[in-house]
Amino acid sequence: MSEKRIAVIGGGIVGIAVARALIRRGLGEVTVFEKETRLAAHQTGHNSGVVHAGLYYKPGSLKARLCAAGRVAIKEYCLEKSLPYREVGKLVVALDEGDLPALADIESRSVASRVPDLARIDDQAKLREIEPHVAGIAAVHSPHTAVVDYPAITEAMAQDVRAAGGTILLGQEVTAMVVEGTKVRLHTPAAEHVFDQVVACAGLQSDIVARLVGADPSPKILPFRGEYWALDPERGHLVNGMIYPVPDPALPFLGVHFTRGVYDDIQVGPNAVPALAREGYSWGRISPRDTLESLRWPGALPMARQYWKMGIDAIGESLLKPIYFSRARRFIPELQMSDLMAKSTAGVRAQAWSRDGSLVDDFAVDQVGPVTLLRNAPSPAATSSLAIADYVIEKYLPSGR
Ligand SMILES: Cc1cc2nc3c(=O)[nH]c(=O)nc-3n(C[C@H](O)[C@H](O)[C@H](O)COP(=O)(O)OP(=O)(O)OC[C@H]3O[C@@H](n4cnc5c(N)ncnc54)[C@H](O)[C@@H]3O)c2cc1C
Repeated sequence: MSEKRIAVIGGGIVGIAVARALIRRGLGEVTVFEKETRLAAHQTGHNSGVVHAGLYYKPGSLKARLCAAGRVAIKEYCLEKSLPYREVGKLVVALDEGDLPALADIESRSVASRVPDLARIDDQAKLREIEPHVAGIAAVHSPHTAVVDYPAITEAMAQDVRAAGGTILLGQEVTAMVVEGTKVRLHTPAAEHVFDQVVACAGLQSDIVARLVGADPSPKILPFRGEYWALDPERGHLVNGMIYPVPDPALPFLGVHFTRGVYDDIQVGPNAVPALAREGYSWGRISPRDTLESLRWPGALPMARQYWKMGIDAIGESLLKPIYFSRARRFIPELQMSDLMAKSTAGVRAQAWSRDGSLVDDFAVDQVGPVTLLRNAPSPAATSSLAIADYVIEKYLPSGR
């Protein structure tokens, strides 16, 4: 019997982790299609670089389970490949009494999800032992939250794929897919290929790729940009590890935080502004098609009704540095406006929203015949990537199929 041919769409960390796991399990001949001329060109290369320890996610959810397993797997992989992995630790800080119920909720979720060595801190002196410049009345501390270089991890995994005989095709956008019985005909502008199975990990384009095979257009990706400011390296002493706000449970994103990166650069951010293009890394990048599609989405209006205040706040933060600065300074009173040197980078989140405007909170996978589609893989999908790969293969591509 000839070997199965399997295609993976997307050369981000999830697609490459899936390709690597398929090859390691000997499931077939694997080809990755990436539309850009390099790997990790989108979310994987534009994120906070944090290996989350699983503080926020609903216990028992895919996010909670795969984040826990993924954190361990990423750590082992970095050690094996001598890639940088630094457990700088995370402090989630309650600024005032109003934050305490949400902080308690995070603590109980963390306990239920067995986040390792989590500590509750109610004493300001102890808070300052961990982060000497922080303000706040209480916190939870996760000492094993770490930082890594996700593009480097993706490149290392891609090397594993190539070394084991897999093919990675860069600059090859999948523009059409036709399911013909048990096979899939996949088109790029350059060629046509036939596969037995396809796994799509297309990030910001995951709904577009799903539509190619007639999957439900819902959930749709509504892109939200996260912008970072670089902290002046001279003021690096203000942040030891990570300082996070207590996230508002009514909002889908974690809020502006301080992160000491794996190469000691300190980033302040990301905010969350509606992006005017799926790959809209700045206000100047506008895609009339993406914007019109977002506005026409039936879920857009209910979503706007629910999140309009967050949207206006975030646009204000994005356009007016003093607003961004004043939000950040609540956590570090010594911070000065000039410490935020420049908008350093930005990423666009591929967050899926349903037709009724509700947020798809958990990771989501769909299947159309031999095509498996990752429909929602936002944060912490980079942390969880190796575990997502195992989960998708075990659940959707068992070896007998
Ligand atoms: C601002 C920000 C901060 C974040 N911080 C963290 C963090 O600290 N920790 C964490 O765990 N997660 C974080 N995340 C989330 C994390 O980055 C993503 O969940 C993860 O990178 C998803 O990986 P992916 O491979 O699914 O998507 P991507 O990295 O976006 O890759 C998808 C790839 O598919 C390709 N593609 C799309 N369509 C096609 C097509 N038709 N043909 C061929 N190729 C195609 C794209 O070019 C792209 O390279 C953050 C995300 C953002 C935006």
